[in-house]
Amino acid sequence: MDKFKEECGVFGIFGHPEAANMTYLGLYALQHRGQESAGIAASDGQEVRVSIGMGHVADVFNNDVLSRLPGNMAFGHVRYSTAGESRLSNAQPFLIDCAHGQIGICHNGNLVNAGELRDDLVGRGSIFQSTSDTEVVLHLYARSKAPSVEAALVESVAQIPGAFSFVLMTRDRLIGVRDPHGFRPLAIGRLGAAYVICSETCAMDLIGATYLRDVEPGEVVVITADGLKSIKPFPPAPLAHCVFEHVYFARPDSYVFGRSVNEVRTNLGRMLAREQRVDADVVVPVPDSGVCAAMGFADEAGLPLRMGLIRNHYVGRTFIQPQSAIRHFGVKVKLNPVRSILEGKRVILVDDSIVRGTTSRKIVGMVRAAGASEVHVRISCPPTISPCFYGVDTPRRSELIAATHSLDEVRDFLEADSLGYLSHEGLMTAVGSGRTGYCSSCYTGQYPVEFPRDEKSYLQLALKLDKESIPR
Ligand code: SF4
Repeated sequence: MDKFKEECGVFGIFGHPEAANMTYLGLYALQHRGQESAGIAASDGQEVRVSIGMGHVADVFNNDVLSRLPGNMAFGHVRYSTAGESRLSNAQPFLIDCAHGQIGICHNGNLVNAGELRDDLVGRGSIFQSTSDTEVVLHLYARSKAPSVEAALVESVAQIPGAFSFVLMTRDRLIGVRDPHGFRPLAIGRLGAAYVICSETCAMDLIGATYLRDVEPGEVVVITADGLKSIKPFPPAPLAHCVFEHVYFARPDSYVFGRSVNEVRTNLGRMLAREQRVDADVVVPVPDSGVCAAMGFADEAGLPLRMGLIRNHYVGRTFIQPQSAIRHFGVKVKLNPVRSILEGKRVILVDDSIVRGTTSRKIVGMVRAAGASEVHVRISCPPTISPCFYGVDTPRRSELIAATHSLDEVRDFLEADSLGYLSHEGLMTAVGSGRTGYCSSCYTGQYPVEFPRDEKSYLQLALKLDKESIPR
């Protein structure tokens, strides 16, 4: 499907006799945040052991592999590559042994000056194992002369502006770090006496843990046998929570940035109905991403909500698309229209975003072919006009249809009867922030964290961007 690609998911647990098993389950719940690779590391207090592989969590781990990860603390990662290629050497956790002892790291986000720092480190003799931006943190940490693990970590992290939610683990402690802008979510929970740190609360639900609070922006949380210690070593910065977590990335059953994703997403649909009313017979979501917004839209508009498109949940990553002359074949494998719902109806089709527009055009065609008399497309966020530099894989700016076409041109391309987006004001009202607290750069082109000029070539390579779209 034509979507921004999810970033990564992180999960860690301290003080549980089945730490690796709990981490496996936690990552299973976070699978939607990355499907390219998965990894778990565990510590028995003496040694940190790691296991990683390409593919889904269930492909990489089984009982045998998990039994080789003993200890009462563990952490893990599911990855979608935002910086660095998709290959095993980039799969996390990264684990090193250095003057400060063993340490492993998992990262969700993107470090904006990683290329510059990497060149500098290579010039000073560092040898990199991966092309991932995350490895830079470990090199900075290993070189630090600071007297403690925490001090060395703070010294390293202070050098890397950008978006990061890290979970790190040494032989005897679990550490969570969130960047001062708070781009990516990171939550803390309890499971009996154990502590949990993870990207989204849906991972806590699966293992029966209770959500305590978020790791605050700019906070370092260190969990040891003595309990949880909080450090706030970084200067405060304007908040920039990624609003796209609410629009699309996070699971609707999660709480991120302290708010229910389902509630926010339903509000987006309500606001959209207020702003973009149209006479119609039925509201149909594009599953699964448009479901919550469509529910809010239908509620507010007083129209029936019907599942007029059915999604095939069994189309996996390994599906090989055979050559076929069937019209809209690729989308048809994933979605099928329900003729009895659509035939003769004026349909409002609700989705969360349009990226290139190619998939949306096919879906509109499918709904029309199933007999709809009118198709009105409604999108629960503003037009996506700029790429993301903070840990989300986006196409080039020139490929974002709303960046290069007017509203009418996009509507004509989709072959829809009408097209309406939620306004930026509507988005911010729905997430409940006024105008502050959230990053919405992919809708505005205004970036809260600047990029060193030398990053241009790196970003072009790593994030596949057009030169002119990289902020100065
Ligand atoms: S640019 Fe968009 S996707 Fe990236 S962090 Fe900001 S809101 Fe999220």
